[in-house]
Amino acid sequence: MALNCKKNLKIDKPIEQCAVFGVASKDKTFTISRQLYLGLISQQHRGQESTGISILKTGGSIVTYKNKGLVSQVLNDKALSKLWGNVGIAHNRYATTGAQEYDSLEYIQPYHFKNDEIEFSLAFNGTIPNYHELKQELEAHGRIFITNTDTEVIAQLIAYTANKTDSWPEILKEMSKSLDGSYSLLILTSESDIYAIRDPLGFKPLCIGEMITKERKHYIVSSESCGIDVVGGNLLRDVRPGEIIHLSSEKGIHSEMVIESERTALCQFEFVYFARPDSIIDGVSVAQTRLQLGINLAKNDPILADPHFRENAIVVPVPDSGRSVAVGYAQEAKLPYMEGLMKNRYVWRTFIMPGQKKREAAVKEKLNPIKIFVEGKNVILLDDSIVRGTTTKKIISLIREAGALSVNVRISCPPVIRPCYMGIDFPTTSELIAGRFKELYGNEAYIDEIRKKIGADSLRYQTIEDLMNAIGKGKDQLCMACLTGIYPLKSVNRIIEFEKAISSNRN
Ligand code: SF4
Repeated sequence: MALNCKKNLKIDKPIEQCAVFGVASKDKTFTISRQLYLGLISQQHRGQESTGISILKTGGSIVTYKNKGLVSQVLNDKALSKLWGNVGIAHNRYATTGAQEYDSLEYIQPYHFKNDEIEFSLAFNGTIPNYHELKQELEAHGRIFITNTDTEVIAQLIAYTANKTDSWPEILKEMSKSLDGSYSLLILTSESDIYAIRDPLGFKPLCIGEMITKERKHYIVSSESCGIDVVGGNLLRDVRPGEIIHLSSEKGIHSEMVIESERTALCQFEFVYFARPDSIIDGVSVAQTRLQLGINLAKNDPILADPHFRENAIVVPVPDSGRSVAVGYAQEAKLPYMEGLMKNRYVWRTFIMPGQKKREAAVKEKLNPIKIFVEGKNVILLDDSIVRGTTTKKIISLIREAGALSVNVRISCPPVIRPCYMGIDFPTTSELIAGRFKELYGNEAYIDEIRKKIGADSLRYQTIEDLMNAIGKGKDQLCMACLTGIYPLKSVNRIIEFEKAISSNRN
């Protein structure tokens, strides 16, 4: 996925970009296309724009089937019945809006590469900020590109390195040394192997599992552990940051560390919002973390000390991601938890609409307050994040119109003040309400200014300290760059410096 924090300027939620999934079955007579389908559908939340599968056919050639659409639309029974093979990889993708070229078939993954020397297929979740430099170097060596993505840069880098050695582990080690980015990457080779690689800082989740029955044994790799669960597998462990895992239908699972880093940088947003609650990432339960984030918010919340307020208070989640947090809050606050907002599940992507008016209308289409629950109540509204603030503002006004006495917003993520350069689709600093208001009003006043802007009676965010405690990881293990402005990648810091220089030249 290309670096794109500035392509989509219209979202009101951070957007995860991809899921990867792979299966290698020992049983050569068994086809794993159904398993790939299940792994993708369980990770549909990580990408809804396009989907694809690459399977190794008997005889060693790779067949790739991919298209725009949801997993169930693209991989229907007819398509699956034609995809036979015991080893394969799969991908769900989120493409940014407003970038038409990214809609074409070449940009959909898995990315299938074949020339006279090598054939492989690649599925990738992440971003390589230094891909322009790498592309230029490769072009100088005569490589010809057909897309403008870091995915193709990785593929060309592999093909270029394969000129020097036949050994896949050596090729991948060499490739990893050139990439400075966030990536969880699967490669299906024509020799019937899957290689799974996680970047040295471990931004994106990636885990392995196995499924053993009397008849057969499968090795599984998945962005999230819910993908392993859905095919009946057991989670073995996470792929370590900087590790290459080799899944072979013949030889099982083998591992090699390529680069060991002093720190890691797992994206904190996986716990706050992106990942499914039933997933476990780097040994941490997403559901448990969200529950704890809610408990943290209720602890020391001054509003709860007012008996008059408590008399009519209810805890309401913004569905779906606010649910576990609201349960934790209600549990700690000893207040009733009420599903005071009804979500229409059949409206897709309301948070990704161009223009503020359209986004506000879309919120009404998607969320409707349950009047009988909220009328005459002090509503404590739990959500995962505030990005632009427009969606939160509309939700608050809907709850007020339904007769709430007051609307008090509690946010499980600390204020998001900076964009992401590591593969999450975010607005720019000036479009992030907390980023803009912090610069305008300073540290002391900006939260209250946000409160006024969104029309809440009170507003509290999670602290960074409490976020780390809930996840159980420290600042040397998590990426929190969108909360702190401290970016853990050299290439990103170079880009930021470059952007600053351009902007000061303009001024
Ligand atoms: S900046 Fe870091 S924590 Fe924030 S969304 Fe990007 S990867 Fe995640």
